[in-house]
Amino acid sequence: MISVEEALERILAFVIRLEPERQPLPDALGQVLAEDAVAGFDIPPFDNTAMDGYAVRAADTVDASDSNPVRLQISGELAAGYLYEGEVAAGAAVRIMTGAPMPRGADAVVPFEETDEQVASSEHRHGKFQKGAETVGILKAAKQGANVRNAGEDVRQGDVIMRAGTTLNAAQIGVLASLGYAEATVYRRPAVAILSTGDELLEIGAPIAPGKIYDSNAYSVASMVREAGGIPKRLGIASDTVEALTAKLHEALDADLVITSAGVSRGDYDVVKDVLAKEGEIDFWTVRMKPGKPLAFGTFRAGNRRVPHIGLPGNPVSSMITFELFGRAAIYKMLGKSGWQRQQVQAIAEDRILNTDGRRVYARAILTEQDGRYHASLTGPQGSGILTSMALANALIVVPEDVAAIEPGDEVTCLLLG
Ligand code: AMP
Ligand code: MG
Repeated sequence: MISVEEALERILAFVIRLEPERQPLPDALGQVLAEDAVAGFDIPPFDNTAMDGYAVRAADTVDASDSNPVRLQISGELAAGYLYEGEVAAGAAVRIMTGAPMPRGADAVVPFEETDEQVASSEHRHGKFQKGAETVGILKAAKQGANVRNAGEDVRQGDVIMRAGTTLNAAQIGVLASLGYAEATVYRRPAVAILSTGDELLEIGAPIAPGKIYDSNAYSVASMVREAGGIPKRLGIASDTVEALTAKLHEALDADLVITSAGVSRGDYDVVKDVLAKEGEIDFWTVRMKPGKPLAFGTFRAGNRRVPHIGLPGNPVSSMITFELFGRAAIYKMLGKSGWQRQQVQAIAEDRILNTDGRRVYARAILTEQDGRYHASLTGPQGSGILTSMALANALIVVPEDVAAIEPGDEVTCLLLG
């Protein structure tokens, strides 16, 4: 039996980062940039106003005060999206809306609040020049550059704005969009084939029948694949025969990763290993952990390719915890993503946890913070078939191989889930 670390090392030694692809922008969220992104122009692309108000020459306003307003001639109005044709002359001002380009001649914007304008006029139209306009009283001196956003103050043309290796988040997608990128060059998401095995399994939707259970692993694992950034492809259920499983597996061979569940224990009908041995190579098939001991890893032959295969145990909790530890890491590596490790915290155990046979135990726990310390209590019975105990958990308590028992009050290491 190999350790968790060795199992992980062997899996990661086999999987490789996938090739780059061009991905339309919103879909690239969570993918990793394969090349530096360079700004083709300045952001903002032109000087513009940060406020609704009057574009003025700052020098004209130096003597302005509440009691002694400086009166300026309104020579026009400008909405965002339009250019002002003329130039703001000395003694003049242009009524201007946030985002509109600064008119030539003006070097500051006086917000409406610092003028004597009472009500914003609604008869002015976008970009229309109002001849014979009224005047406006400026109540406060404006400094040069006041309320002006300068071209290039955010991003400079030619700047590397994001390095290769960046995992794109919402803000970064926004920055790329502001620079006119319709697509990003990112490492491809792995297609992950998911196959459940077992004569007892029913597709959800089928009427429940004696001796049968619904296939839940395909759904929990597909969800975890999606959370990790892969593209799950459910292949359905294969019955416990070498023929059925072989046939189903051949549908999976165009995937980047094949994940099966069940059929890897020592039972008579546990045929996954037999098929793996026939169609490829088994690397290992037990790991010193609980739950999740019967975890298999190997590769299938697909022409001259070899497709990695993770054979998860059948028990619903075991399949989720082994996917959590090994499947996520494999998908992250294919995506070119680092940081698959979950955040770890130390907590006070609230319950007794026994470790009877020297494996590493992952116990489902609810982590809470009390008086500045984390406390971890078990979610309930820890049988590996009790999936609701997984649904309640926000953390896993990790009990080392050489610790036989955790007692209430002991300090334990927890992995934060999600
Ligand atoms: P096995 O690994 O085939 O010995 O299965 C171990 C346990 O997991 C058995 O109780 C199975 O019925 C259960 N099991 C196997 N596959 C699934 C599945 N896809 N969904 C829910 N339970 C499963
Ligand atoms: Mg079975």
